Amino acid sequence: MVWQNLLAELEKKGNLRELTPVRRLGRGRLALPGKPDAPPLLDLSSNDYLAFAEHPRLIEQSRAFLEAAGSGAGAARLMSGDLDIFHALEDEVAALKDQEAALIFGSGYMANCGLIPALAGRHDVIFADRLDHASIYDGCRLAGARLIRFNHNDLDHLEDLLKKKRGKNRALIVVESLYSMDGDICPLAEIVRLKERYDCLLMVDEAHATGLYGPKGAGLVEEAGLAGRVDIVMGTFSKALGSYGAYVAGSSGLKDLLINRARSFIFSTALPPAVVGASLAAVRLVREEPGLRRELFAKVDLFKELLRRGGVPFLGTSQIIPVMVGKSDTAVKLAAELREDHHIFATAVRPPTVPEGTARLRFSITRNLSDAALEQTAATLVSLLQNQGINIT
Ligand SMILES: *Cc1c(COP(=O)(O)O)cnc(C)c1O
Repeated sequence: MVWQNLLAELEKKGNLRELTPVRRLGRGRLALPGKPDAPPLLDLSSNDYLAFAEHPRLIEQSRAFLEAAGSGAGAARLMSGDLDIFHALEDEVAALKDQEAALIFGSGYMANCGLIPALAGRHDVIFADRLDHASIYDGCRLAGARLIRFNHNDLDHLEDLLKKKRGKNRALIVVESLYSMDGDICPLAEIVRLKERYDCLLMVDEAHATGLYGPKGAGLVEEAGLAGRVDIVMGTFSKALGSYGAYVAGSSGLKDLLINRARSFIFSTALPPAVVGASLAAVRLVREEPGLRRELFAKVDLFKELLRRGGVPFLGTSQIIPVMVGKSDTAVKLAAELREDHHIFATAVRPPTVPEGTARLRFSITRNLSDAALEQTAATLVSLLQNQGINIT
């Protein structure tokens, strides 16, 4: 069968992926339903940074909208699915992001696939960071624009390419404010200067920064004080906000254009009311309880300090902490050992997702993890890496 042949090819390259069913036990612990007697796994790969997915305010608001408006929106927004709750959420998001308007999409993936082709076409050019998310690259492909990739966070490279390849038509620069594989941050102020100098549109994907950074928790665009100088700010409700779906924030003209041109908005059913409820509660919680993100970053600081003391090499300036191990098979082996022997769930990230020779274990810190759990994880990691002879300093 064709499936078997294709799967065998993937397996031969070591790229076969499999699902692992889990059950959430709360406090960042996961049970494996297939192994009822095994101790719970500690989840260090979740994007639910603020532990909002289990927050009573989200659950309550979600239930209220479910009961008031039903389990599905019934139609796309341009049909009869334009429930008033979408407008309430859009107003909250626009206020949080200091933008004129916002538009909700079904998911971050859908937002990027709809948004980018609405802004750039065959005669235009898109400059994208090499580490941009797959959904951004898929959006660029759908746009049919000339795609030019610049080296990750490399401003000189970007400027050089702008000089040579900007052309006369529309040009769009697409970056993320916080990159999920390296856990590092985009030099937004410099990118804004370049976009202004070379007359480009700038789109910033804040999937991993929304809810966590800036005085109001809007994200890194807010933290850098650049809300008025970024044309398109996109982000998701699916990570720190503990819900699902995505938003695009910008001018009301941008919103009107997307309603008319973004195919993933036009031709897809509006999100279910329960999801909108959770997102609405999450955005309000971010505004009202800045202490929650302070709690998260205290944990991030603790974990990094423990790694530093243990001499563990890591990257990142955020809640995402990649520990560099080098070879792919070492990363895979260490992830398996962490999981099977130490009940710690972290992901091995390897090429082609990251450059050759930079395979890593990726840890993401959430408010669900107790300090004791973080101490135990760091100690385990230090001893595993020592056994592997990895550059412990
Ligand atoms: C997760 C992510 C997305 C996709 O968002 P979903 O809501 O999960 O579809 C898009 N962009 C970036 C940078 C992401 O990290």
